[in-house]
Amino acid sequence: MSHTVELLCVGTELLLGNILNTDARDLSRELTALGLNVRYHTVVGDNPERLKAAVDIARNRADVIITTGGLGPTCDDLTKQTLAEAFGLKLVFHPDCAAGIEAFFAKMGRKMTENNLQQAYLPEGCDILDNAWGTAPGCAFQAGGNYVVMLPGPPRECIPMFKERAMPWLSRLSEGVIRSRTLRVFGAGESEVEALLRDRMNELTNPTLAPYAKEGEVELRVTAKADTEEAADALIAPIEAEVRAILGRKVYGADVAGLEQVVLEGLRARSLTMGTAESCTGGLIAKRITDLPGSSAVLKGGIVSYTNEVKANVLGVSRTLLDEKGAVCAEVAEQMAEGARRVLGCDLAVSATGVAGPDSDDRGNPVGLVYVALAAPDGTEVKELHLSGGTNRRDRVRNLAANHALDLIRRWLEDHPA
Ligand code: ATP
Repeated sequence: MSHTVELLCVGTELLLGNILNTDARDLSRELTALGLNVRYHTVVGDNPERLKAAVDIARNRADVIITTGGLGPTCDDLTKQTLAEAFGLKLVFHPDCAAGIEAFFAKMGRKMTENNLQQAYLPEGCDILDNAWGTAPGCAFQAGGNYVVMLPGPPRECIPMFKERAMPWLSRLSEGVIRSRTLRVFGAGESEVEALLRDRMNELTNPTLAPYAKEGEVELRVTAKADTEEAADALIAPIEAEVRAILGRKVYGADVAGLEQVVLEGLRARSLTMGTAESCTGGLIAKRITDLPGSSAVLKGGIVSYTNEVKANVLGVSRTLLDEKGAVCAEVAEQMAEGARRVLGCDLAVSATGVAGPDSDDRGNPVGLVYVALAAPDGTEVKELHLSGGTNRRDRVRNLAANHALDLIRRWLEDHPA
């Protein structure tokens, strides 16, 4: 597929720097994986004249125009009206859409105001992209040699709308089917992964292999195009095997939501339970597990042992050790995990103790020094981490520490097959 795309993001907030244009980033990623060439990102404020001018430019330099934002009732349907006008289409009332909007409000138990029905006016002859994540429907049409797709602005609506509604619509631009598989990598930075796979990434055309850096981990997306789903999957399989052979145990899963999902499913499959003892992560490890449905079968509990008093009184960490070496050391991490395993009565317990910042601790331990430990039936292991980087360092250190703690369980599960 060699179609070109321009993303046209509508919203004065974007121009003022009040919000980051995450829709452009996330949609570009999806579109690239589909084999479409994203050529331009344009941002325009909530102003019909400037939007019209932007559309006139876009339609002459890209086949596909995808807009985000300006679909809601408060925007006076700026995007729909302007795009419809630009392509010489009238806006017509769609009773089905109005019924859908009314049903959405009823489901949420909220009262619908009249202006919401404005959203049921859509360009004549368009395909409606039903919005199951909000109220403003999207739409798609073909006119004057362009394909136009309009999506709502809020990312929690825009991205699922793209995946579930726009992608099937856009797939008409492609002959055959496109399938992708995302390998999740932990324990290697983006540059390391790129260095190991660069040649293959450059050589491969079908499937393609593309890396995406996420906080503390890397995603590798393998995307194939073929006549059937089976044929596309057959193209993906050897590349997945090759990546796994190169990166080894750093690949922790494929098409999974994160380390927590692998941990939760691994424990559940073995009927094992876990618990946490957290200092610098403040409960984040337990939160990550409880974010997932089904976590109650696996997580017995978590103790946020922020002070030395709680580390000693609740978890049984040695007071002498705490006095002599302080809370940030390997032995404390070990005793925290062992204490949690005992107190919570779980099979596996992880702990984290360290300096999240912004300042070093009173013993002069640097920001980013963290110990994570895993207490298991066959012994306790501890890992010393030196976590760095990022603008919001405190958050980053805590997130990375939680990832490392979860990864200890993930690796233990791999070493102890069900
Ligand atoms: P709504 O039905 O919520 O009114 P809309 O399509 O009219 O949807 P906007 O009013 O343009 O969308 O934006 C609503 C909110 O969505 C913004 O305040 C912002 O928080 C978020 N948003 C909009 N555009 C983007 C974008 N490009 N990237 C990230 N967030 C965005």
